[in-house]
Amino acid sequence: MTINTHPALPEFEYFRPETLVEASEFLARYHGEARPFLGGTDVFVRMRDGFLAPKFLVDVKNLDGTNDLYFEPQAGLTLGAAVNMNRVIASPEVQAHYPLLAEACRSVASYQLRTRATVVGNICNASPAGDTIGACLTFDGVLNIHGVSGPRQEPLAAFFLGPGKTTLKPGDVVTAIHLPLPPEGCAGTYLKLGRNKLSDLSIVGVTALGYPDPSRPSGYRFRLALASVAPVPLVPAQAETYLANDTITPESIREAARLAAEDCSPIDDVRGSARYRKQMVRNLSARALTEVWERLK
Ligand SMILES: Cc1cc2nc3c(=O)[nH]c(=O)nc-3n(C[C@H](O)[C@H](O)[C@H](O)COP(=O)(O)OP(=O)(O)OC[C@H]3O[C@@H](n4cnc5c(N)ncnc54)[C@H](O)[C@@H]3O)c2cc1C
Repeated sequence: MTINTHPALPEFEYFRPETLVEASEFLARYHGEARPFLGGTDVFVRMRDGFLAPKFLVDVKNLDGTNDLYFEPQAGLTLGAAVNMNRVIASPEVQAHYPLLAEACRSVASYQLRTRATVVGNICNASPAGDTIGACLTFDGVLNIHGVSGPRQEPLAAFFLGPGKTTLKPGDVVTAIHLPLPPEGCAGTYLKLGRNKLSDLSIVGVTALGYPDPSRPSGYRFRLALASVAPVPLVPAQAETYLANDTITPESIREAARLAAEDCSPIDDVRGSARYRKQMVRNLSARALTEVWERLK
């Protein structure tokens, strides 16, 4: 038996719409046969591996607003869908106001891959392992979407339905992600556990963001997002509530980390067992929260 280790891409037609209206109409008309793409680092790999065989690939990289990257002091950051991760990392505005997002982008694969890969592609791929999703969730990201009925916005927190499944409808194109102004005095970190340091998806990823919040009994709020431990990127609500209500101490951080692990429903796969993942969520959450807390103090 011959095993073809480098299968070719299946045939497809390339379509580059001129406008968002044209893109949405085309994607809706050929729903099931047409697929949008940005960097293509997920799409082409899945096509080569035989999981996808779209008749049309719709290049949405040059449409209105998709190459924008700008920060407004009153409104926050708008990150166009086609902006690649190296551009995000190099942006002085991202470094100044959302260093957590830059850190998450830096954890993705290699420099070469990041010249193609986008944050919006990472989100739309809807893998629970997506490394940049946690930062966007903890900053309360909102997606700008263009559909057959025109533009609309959707909170990222309600976007994921399952592995590879989102609330997107036929004809929808995500044009940007908007991150509101970061909370005053915030500090954040992203801890990724992979099988190696380069080019591997996470076994577990923990994003933590903390900030002073005098309206909470603890005086602080901590936001958490977990990768690769549930069918969707997971916000462990119990842990967040616990830390908002209890005095922040090493013990309360350990308890919050235990609650975070309790919220997970990981699977066994080639990268790690469910049991190992739960234990790593506990360890990494405690480490991430401690690191953030030390910086907040
Ligand atoms: C070698 C290698 C290493 C990798 N390592 C990592 C890693 O460490 N961490 C990680 O998180 N990921 C990793 N990935 C996965 C991938 O690179 C990322 O998910 C990347 O961010 C995808 O972005 P993209 O622009 O290439 O998306 P694309 O492949 O263009 O698209 C991704 C998905 O989103 C859909 N889509 C694209 N654009 C839109 C749009 N505007 N509106 C609606 N739907 C859209 C596509 O149809 C597709 O389903 C790796 C991939 C490879 C090949």
